[in-house]
Amino acid sequence: MSASRPLTAQPALASRADGRRAPDLRLVPIEPLERIELSAPPSVQGRLYGDRDDSVGQGDETAARLRALGIERPLFKRFPCVLPGHEHPARVHFTSAGFWQYSCEALARSAGLGEVRAFIAYGQQRSISRVEAARWRERLDFEAHLRYPTPLRVEVPDPCPQAAGIVVAKMQLFVGLRDRRFPPHEPFPFARDFAMAYTGLTSDRVRGAIDWLERAQVIKRAGMSVRAITWRLAAQPPPPPEPPGGVPG
Ligand SMILES: [Zn+2]
Repeated sequence: MSASRPLTAQPALASRADGRRAPDLRLVPIEPLERIELSAPPSVQGRLYGDRDDSVGQGDETAARLRALGIERPLFKRFPCVLPGHEHPARVHFTSAGFWQYSCEALARSAGLGEVRAFIAYGQQRSISRVEAARWRERLDFEAHLRYPTPLRVEVPDPCPQAAGIVVAKMQLFVGLRDRRFPPHEPFPFARDFAMAYTGLTSDRVRGAIDWLERAQVIKRAGMSVRAITWRLAAQPPPPPEPPGGVPG
């Protein structure tokens, strides 16, 4: 697996990425674990549109997202539903609020394209938070060649178990794709169900991989979010010191 190979600096990607996006990030630009497909020119510098919107206007980009979901039909045409186990037509439509939404007869309500990506990963429809939906939208935009992750320098001991290589690659992707409202040092949750969906690994493999990565100090426990441990990649910079006198405002 390419995901478990050792990391080396690859300035080619960095120079491609540098200055075009995320100029405020203080991360060392370096090739991420997974080879990032750069065949399509980045139409985005750092991010797309409003953060709440996966699909405002811009038919080419919506079409790219739909293709990444496995939908080849032109916009507004019905197509075979891409959700797991669904065998009926589905469609996307543009809402009055300016969002592209996906609907089929088995969904209680229409879903955003990021949610559809999540349902495919989970293998079923499920309730996900807006925050999680945003992470899946970023993943979809990456797969649609519309968004590129901020590369992170991650040192992984060799030999690295295959599952650990996959998990750390996906953590890098997750952190690197996050909206820039998240500072680069911000810890991230990677709860088991989510991790299984995001990596495609079984529960046991995810647990073993995370245990290994923690022992290898590739990831570190940062705290707890509402329900889950939050992590920080060793490559993520430490939080900045508190300014003297506290933060104004
Ligand atoms: Zn369906």
